[in-house]
Amino acid sequence: MDARSEERIKLLYPDLAVRARRVFIDVERLLGVKLRVTETLRSFEKQAALYAKGRTEPGPIVTNARPGYSFHAYGLAFDTCFDGADPYLEKFGRDVAKLHWSEFGRIAEAHGLVWGGNFKAIPDRPHCQLTYGLSINECTELYRQGGVPAVWKWIDGHVGYDSSTYWPDFKSVGP
Ligand SMILES: [Zn+2]
Repeated sequence: MDARSEERIKLLYPDLAVRARRVFIDVERLLGVKLRVTETLRSFEKQAALYAKGRTEPGPIVTNARPGYSFHAYGLAFDTCFDGADPYLEKFGRDVAKLHWSEFGRIAEAHGLVWGGNFKAIPDRPHCQLTYGLSINECTELYRQGGVPAVWKWIDGHVGYDSSTYWPDFKSVGP
Protein backbone atom coordinates (compact mmCIF):
# COMPACT_ATOMS: atom_id res chain seq x y z
CA MET A 1 0.00 0.00 0.00
CA ASP A 2 1.39 3.40 -0.96
CA ALA A 3 2.06 6.00 1.75
CA ARG A 4 -0.79 8.34 0.80
CA SER A 5 -3.31 5.49 0.85
CA GLU A 6 -2.00 4.29 4.21
CA GLU A 7 -2.30 7.82 5.61
CA ARG A 8 -5.95 7.90 4.50
CA ILE A 9 -6.71 4.42 5.85
CA LYS A 10 -5.61 5.59 9.31
CA LEU A 11 -8.62 7.96 9.29
CA LEU A 12 -11.03 5.01 9.21
CA TYR A 13 -12.51 3.40 12.31
CA PRO A 14 -9.64 1.02 13.21
CA ASP A 15 -11.53 -2.24 12.67
CA LEU A 16 -12.62 -1.00 9.25
CA ALA A 17 -9.01 -0.01 8.50
CA VAL A 18 -7.92 -3.60 9.21
CA ARG A 19 -10.64 -4.97 6.92
CA ALA A 20 -9.76 -2.50 4.16
CA ARG A 21 -6.11 -3.58 4.22
CA ARG A 22 -7.21 -7.23 3.96
CA VAL A 23 -9.39 -6.36 0.94
CA PHE A 24 -6.43 -4.71 -0.80
CA ILE A 25 -4.18 -7.68 -0.10
CA ASP A 26 -6.77 -10.13 -1.46
CA VAL A 27 -7.46 -8.04 -4.57
CA GLU A 28 -3.76 -7.92 -5.38
CA ARG A 29 -3.36 -11.62 -4.74
CA LEU A 30 -6.47 -12.73 -6.65
CA LEU A 31 -6.72 -10.13 -9.45
CA GLY A 32 -3.05 -9.18 -9.76
CA VAL A 33 -3.81 -5.46 -9.49
CA LYS A 34 -3.02 -2.92 -6.80
CA LEU A 35 -5.60 -0.54 -5.38
CA ARG A 36 -5.19 2.98 -4.04
CA VAL A 37 -7.35 4.75 -1.50
CA THR A 38 -8.73 8.04 -2.79
CA GLU A 39 -10.79 9.05 0.22
CA THR A 40 -11.84 7.92 3.69
CA LEU A 41 -12.95 10.43 6.33
CA ARG A 42 -14.55 13.40 4.56
CA SER A 43 -15.38 16.73 6.16
CA PHE A 44 -18.89 18.17 6.10
CA GLU A 45 -17.53 21.06 3.95
CA LYS A 46 -16.24 18.70 1.28
CA GLN A 47 -19.50 16.73 1.27
CA ALA A 48 -21.38 20.02 0.76
CA ALA A 49 -19.22 20.76 -2.29
CA LEU A 50 -19.88 17.27 -3.72
CA TYR A 51 -23.61 17.59 -3.09
CA ALA A 52 -23.67 20.91 -4.94
CA LYS A 53 -22.33 19.24 -8.12
CA GLY A 54 -25.12 18.86 -10.63
CA ARG A 55 -27.44 20.89 -8.41
CA THR A 56 -26.18 24.43 -7.79
CA GLU A 57 -22.78 23.79 -9.45
CA PRO A 58 -21.94 22.41 -12.90
CA GLY A 59 -21.25 18.74 -13.59
CA PRO A 60 -23.17 15.52 -13.14
CA ILE A 61 -24.79 14.57 -9.83
CA VAL A 62 -22.27 12.42 -7.95
CA THR A 63 -24.00 11.89 -4.63
CA ASN A 64 -27.42 11.95 -3.00
CA ALA A 65 -25.88 12.46 0.43
CA ARG A 66 -26.18 15.88 2.03
CA PRO A 67 -23.42 16.91 4.47
CA GLY A 68 -23.53 14.51 7.41
CA TYR A 69 -25.58 12.01 5.43
CA SER A 70 -22.61 10.07 4.08
CA PHE A 71 -20.80 7.50 6.18
CA HIS A 72 -17.56 9.14 5.00
CA ALA A 73 -18.27 11.89 7.54
CA TYR A 74 -17.71 9.38 10.36
CA GLY A 75 -14.73 7.41 9.05
CA LEU A 76 -17.00 4.48 8.18
CA ALA A 77 -16.52 4.50 4.38
CA PHE A 78 -13.70 4.55 1.88
CA ASP A 79 -13.29 5.07 -1.85
CA THR A 80 -10.73 3.28 -3.93
CA CYS A 81 -9.39 3.04 -7.46
CA PHE A 82 -6.96 0.85 -9.35
CA ASP A 83 -3.31 1.88 -9.29
CA GLY A 84 -1.75 3.02 -12.55
CA ALA A 85 -2.70 5.12 -15.57
CA ASP A 86 -6.30 3.92 -15.83
CA PRO A 87 -7.65 4.11 -12.26
CA TYR A 88 -11.31 3.57 -13.15
CA LEU A 89 -10.59 1.06 -15.95
CA GLU A 90 -12.06 3.29 -18.64
CA LYS A 91 -9.66 2.03 -21.29
CA PHE A 92 -10.65 -1.57 -20.66
CA GLY A 93 -13.66 -2.99 -22.46
CA ARG A 94 -16.86 -2.51 -20.48
CA ASP A 95 -17.05 -6.22 -19.67
CA VAL A 96 -13.49 -6.42 -18.33
CA ALA A 97 -13.97 -3.31 -16.23
CA LYS A 98 -17.27 -4.64 -14.90
CA LEU A 99 -15.66 -7.95 -14.02
CA HIS A 100 -12.78 -6.30 -12.13
CA TRP A 101 -15.10 -4.06 -10.15
CA SER A 102 -17.52 -6.86 -9.35
CA GLU A 103 -14.64 -9.05 -8.17
CA PHE A 104 -13.51 -6.16 -5.98
CA GLY A 105 -17.06 -5.92 -4.61
CA ARG A 106 -17.22 -9.64 -3.96
CA ILE A 107 -13.93 -9.55 -2.03
CA ALA A 108 -15.05 -6.49 -0.02
CA GLU A 109 -18.29 -8.25 0.90
CA ALA A 110 -16.33 -11.33 1.95
CA HIS A 111 -14.66 -9.08 4.53
CA GLY A 112 -18.03 -7.95 5.84
CA LEU A 113 -18.21 -4.63 3.97
CA VAL A 114 -21.14 -3.14 2.08
CA TRP A 115 -20.15 -2.42 -1.53
CA GLY A 116 -21.42 0.73 -3.25
CA GLY A 117 -21.64 -1.09 -6.57
CA ASN A 118 -24.91 -2.57 -5.30
CA PHE A 119 -26.44 0.79 -4.36
CA LYS A 120 -29.80 1.14 -6.08
CA ALA A 121 -30.08 4.92 -6.59
CA ILE A 122 -26.52 5.77 -7.68
CA PRO A 123 -24.26 2.71 -7.95
CA ASP A 124 -20.83 3.71 -6.59
CA ARG A 125 -18.33 0.99 -7.46
CA PRO A 126 -15.27 2.57 -5.79
CA HIS A 127 -17.16 2.90 -2.46
CA CYS A 128 -17.27 0.54 0.54
CA GLN A 129 -18.73 1.11 3.97
CA LEU A 130 -19.31 -0.59 7.30
CA THR A 131 -21.76 0.98 9.72
CA TYR A 132 -21.79 -1.54 12.60
CA GLY A 133 -25.57 -1.33 12.80
CA LEU A 134 -25.68 2.47 13.07
CA SER A 135 -28.16 4.32 10.91
CA ILE A 136 -27.11 7.59 9.32
CA ASN A 137 -29.50 9.47 11.64
CA GLU A 138 -27.92 7.86 14.69
CA CYS A 139 -24.50 8.92 13.37
CA THR A 140 -25.56 12.55 12.92
CA GLU A 141 -27.03 12.57 16.44
CA LEU A 142 -23.86 11.10 18.01
CA TYR A 143 -21.75 13.53 15.97
CA ARG A 144 -23.80 16.43 17.29
CA GLN A 145 -23.01 15.28 20.82
CA GLY A 146 -19.27 14.70 20.43
CA GLY A 147 -18.00 14.62 16.87
CA VAL A 148 -16.44 11.58 15.22
CA PRO A 149 -15.04 10.32 18.59
CA ALA A 150 -18.61 9.92 19.90
CA VAL A 151 -19.49 7.76 16.89
CA TRP A 152 -16.38 5.64 17.32
CA LYS A 153 -17.00 5.23 21.07
CA TRP A 154 -20.52 3.98 20.34
CA ILE A 155 -19.09 1.38 17.95
CA ASP A 156 -16.46 0.41 20.56
CA GLY A 157 -19.28 -0.36 22.98
CA HIS A 158 -21.15 -2.29 20.32
CA VAL A 159 -18.25 -4.49 19.16
CA GLY A 160 -16.39 -4.70 22.50
CA TYR A 161 -13.27 -2.84 21.44
CA ASP A 162 -11.23 0.18 22.51
CA SER A 163 -10.27 2.21 19.47
CA SER A 164 -9.00 5.22 21.43
CA THR A 165 -5.30 4.32 21.22
CA TYR A 166 -5.60 4.39 17.40
CA TRP A 167 -7.45 7.68 17.14
CA PRO A 168 -6.00 10.04 14.55
CA ASP A 169 -5.97 13.80 14.92
CA PHE A 170 -9.52 14.43 13.71
CA LYS A 171 -8.86 18.17 13.43
CA SER A 172 -6.24 17.45 10.74
CA VAL A 173 -8.99 16.48 8.30
CA GLY A 174 -9.38 19.56 6.17
CA PRO A 175 -12.25 20.41 3.85
ZN1 LIG B 1 -17.58 6.85 -1.07
